[in-house]
Amino acid sequence: MTSPYIHETVKTVHHWNDTLFSFTTTRHAGLRFKTGQFVMIGLMINHKPLVRAYSIVSAHYEEQLEFYSIKVQDGPLTSHLQHLKPGDTLLISRKPTGSLVLDNLKPGKRLYLLSTGTGLAPFMSVVRDPEFYDAFENIILTHGVRVVSELGYHDYLTNELPNNEFFGEQVRQQLIYYPTVTRETFRNQGRLTDLIESGSLFRDIGMPELNPDQDRVMICGSPAMLKDLVALLQARGFVEGTSNQPGDYVIERAFVEK
Ligand SMILES: Cc1cc2nc3c(=O)[nH]c(=O)nc-3n(C[C@H](O)[C@H](O)[C@H](O)COP(=O)(O)OP(=O)(O)OC[C@H]3O[C@@H](n4cnc5c(N)ncnc54)[C@H](O)[C@@H]3O)c2cc1C
Repeated sequence: MTSPYIHETVKTVHHWNDTLFSFTTTRHAGLRFKTGQFVMIGLMINHKPLVRAYSIVSAHYEEQLEFYSIKVQDGPLTSHLQHLKPGDTLLISRKPTGSLVLDNLKPGKRLYLLSTGTGLAPFMSVVRDPEFYDAFENIILTHGVRVVSELGYHDYLTNELPNNEFFGEQVRQQLIYYPTVTRETFRNQGRLTDLIESGSLFRDIGMPELNPDQDRVMICGSPAMLKDLVALLQARGFVEGTSNQPGDYVIERAFVEK
């Protein structure tokens, strides 16, 4: 019987701070995924596979896979995963899935990517997919965190991605990156829901307020953040999209509260 998991080898590990890290692994040639999807990943713990859902950070065309992870101190998986080293084996499920895919959205003018915490992960793949730049005039990537050190990929998004040799020009012209911090001083401050309700976000980026005629939205964050943002979108007439019926917005939980 084929194992439900592919065995990949960890290539690099980067710790952003005490609570967040990223790592890359080899990628089996047969592992195909759509931008925005997630897989189950994990480790053999006491001779049994222990896996959790993880969004894929890397772009669909990259040779390696990349993930962005929380470190939950007593978490069954991440208490081990945070000690990953190059050369270690990572289990990865064979069937990527998820709702944050382009096909689930109707065509639109602007795409808002609203994330908090590790909810940034699937959108790192989106902002590296040229198909999204062809589909929308602007892509607005928001990332809400508590403290500045939780802004993973900030320097990459600010300095490296706009200089990408293949699609840097599209990034410079079309991508707006809007990080915001709630518990420390930063150039943008406050919760995403408040920044949308008050209109500050739109004033800051020079865009009109959210409107289902032109805007499409992907959301990935905590269960509480999703609940608030979905209520806010529905009050403005946005309809959720599915694979059967593309709509104005799609959501994915960044984690499940246990
Ligand atoms: C669709 C989906 C995609 C996911 N993608 C990612 C991802 O890309 N990166 C990632 O780190 N996690 C992601 N998660 C969460 C992940 O599956 C695990 O929950 C996480 O790795 C912790 O595993 P654990 O076994 O250590 O603790 P668990 O027992 O799974 O979690 C313990 C508690 O820690 C908190 N928690 C768990 N994950 C997070 C998180 N990401 N941010 C803040 N608090 C959290 C929750 O309160 C949870 O109840 C995703 C979850 C889902 C459902």
